[in-house]
Order: sequence, then C-alpha cells, then structure tokens
Amino acid sequence: MKYIIEHMEEGFSEWVILEYTQIIKEVGKENLVLTSLPAETTEKDIPKRLLDLGLQWTTKECVNIDGGLDKNRVCLLDPAATEELATTDAEKFDYFVFGGILGSHPRIDRTGLLREKYGFAGRRLGALQMTTDTAIRTTQRIIEDQVKFEDIKFLDYPEIRYNKYESTEMPFRYIVDENGEPILPVGMLDLIKHDAEQSIDDLLL
Ligand code: SAM
Repeated sequence: MKYIIEHMEEGFSEWVILEYTQIIKEVGKENLVLTSLPAETTEKDIPKRLLDLGLQWTTKECVNIDGGLDKNRVCLLDPAATEELATTDAEKFDYFVFGGILGSHPRIDRTGLLREKYGFAGRRLGALQMTTDTAIRTTQRIIEDQVKFEDIKFLDYPEIRYNKYESTEMPFRYIVDENGEPILPVGMLDLIKHDAEQSIDDLLL
C-alpha cells in the first residue's frame, strides 16, 4: 500500500514537518511519497529532519510516479466524497492520495483542486475535517488493519490546555490512544502551546 501526499503548502512550516515526520514513522519511508513539489525544488529546500528519515519526494505529479499510475487503482481521500472508505477498498486500490494541506476553519475545499485535476475515485473518512496525519492514520487502520471506520475511536475538537487559565480548541477530529488522549505528532502539543503563548504576547504588546 502506498501513501501519496500532494504537497500543496508553500515550503515546510514546523507544523508540516512534525506531521510528515509522524507519517513517515507510522507508514514507513518506503510507503510514502511527497509529490508535486515546485519544479525548481532541490534537496536543499527539503528540511534535513525529513531527509534524514528517508523522505521520498518528487516534483512530478502523483499520476507520474512509479512509471505512471493506473488511475483506476488510485483513491483520493476527499472530505467532500459521497462514498466512505471501507475495508473492502483494500482490494480496489494500491495508492491513497492526500492533500498536503493545513486545515482551516471553516473548511476551505482545497482538496477539490486534486479532485478536479486527476479524477480519481474519492472516499470520505466521515464528515469532520482531520489533519493530514490523522487522515493517513485512519486510512491505515481501515485498509491495512481492516478495522471499520465506525469501530475506530475518535475525539472531536479536543481542547488543548496550555496553562491554568487558557486553552485552545483544535477544530479537527483525532484518533484517540489507549488513554483516550488524541494522537498528535510528537512535538505538536509544544508547538501549539508555543504558538498560543506567542499570540497572547503579541496581543499584550
Ligand atoms: N480544508 C481542507 C480541504 O481542502 O479539504 C482540509 C484538508 S485536510 C487538513 C488534509 C487532507 O486530509 C485532505 O486533503 C484529505 O486528503 C484528508 N482528509 C482530512 N479529513 C478528511 C475526511 N474527513 N475525509 C477524507 N479525507 C480527509
């Protein structure tokens, strides 16, 4: 099973680096490809932390990797698809494509660009927006572990408390771990807290 992220953000923010790091660790470097990087991209534009983990990347569009993909075997994970991803889709598809897009609230349909460009079959992972790493984690559970979507435990819009008085609500759906805590990339909690404190400091200036 191969996971493809069509990189649609400009450059690599810390948030994106943490998400991609987690994804490489969970699906394995040989099963992940980052596609559609800008034509002028060279290795020095890719964060060293991701290169060190063996990230595979290309300026090619996803349809052109591995000698050209058979479009019938490719699935786009699409929040606006009408069909839900099912365990039986493991037989239908070899490649799963995700938008390398930071979430926005309310949701802006940037995955629509991929839908229109490639015309792959689309599948939804429920009605709520997930981060890219959560969407890949959920797909992996359904396709590789054969767990039905309705049997996966999620937490919607968790509140992240970053000090005694303040917290922030994450506008996404997350899978929970065995302790009922949302699974976030390593380092993400600290980043969220840091960003929140930073914006409070800016307000106080
Ligand atoms: N506002 C964004 C959009 O353009 O739809 C949401 C992007 S989401 C943060 C990043 C990627 O995760 C999407 O492009 C999609 O591949 C996948 N994804 C997230 N939530 C999903 C859902 N509920 N169903 C299917 N795919 C989802």
